[in-house]
Amino acid sequence: MGKPLVQSIWLAGCSGCHMSFLDIDERLLELLKLADIGATPITDFRLGHFPECDIGLVEGSVTNESNIEFLEELRAKSKLLISLGDCAGWGCVPFMRNFFPLTEVMEHAYIWTSSTVDGHIPDDPEVPKFLETVRPIRDFVKVDFHIPGCPPSADTIFYCLSELAQGRHPDGIPQNMLHFD
Ligand code: SF4
Repeated sequence: MGKPLVQSIWLAGCSGCHMSFLDIDERLLELLKLADIGATPITDFRLGHFPECDIGLVEGSVTNESNIEFLEELRAKSKLLISLGDCAGWGCVPFMRNFFPLTEVMEHAYIWTSSTVDGHIPDDPEVPKFLETVRPIRDFVKVDFHIPGCPPSADTIFYCLSELAQGRHPDGIPQNMLHFD
């Protein structure tokens, strides 16, 4: 049997969870003995081009229709889907826009800012339509496992991926690896 294939995407996030993934540093080589790493935002990922994989990682919450398309495709192609970090898990930083109506958020971003002159809200059909509220990925697809933290530490990511790649479910993430910030 070959090594499991890991793929990842990012939705509405800051990329910090993937930076933490890269922070496992030379242990990436250990991980590559256990698993292959396919499409990621650090390499390349495009809608309609994900192969089937064993472990799909998702950073970020769902804030527009394009996010839903990527999420649904990765879910359909992944045996296990993992929410990587708190934006994917419950909304975290992007979730803060939910305290305001979407129109107000858009006006603030594109019109009211002091550096903007003659601003307008983008209305090109190619710009993905924003959802009224930011939502965690579990509102759209089944999630098999959550790696908590903002971002999860490199140690936690390495531990969870190593366990999952060896067919074990990391039921108990050691307390000292958990982040709740
Ligand atoms: S959980 Fe934190 S580090 Fe990860 S994408 Fe969200 S804001 Fe960034």
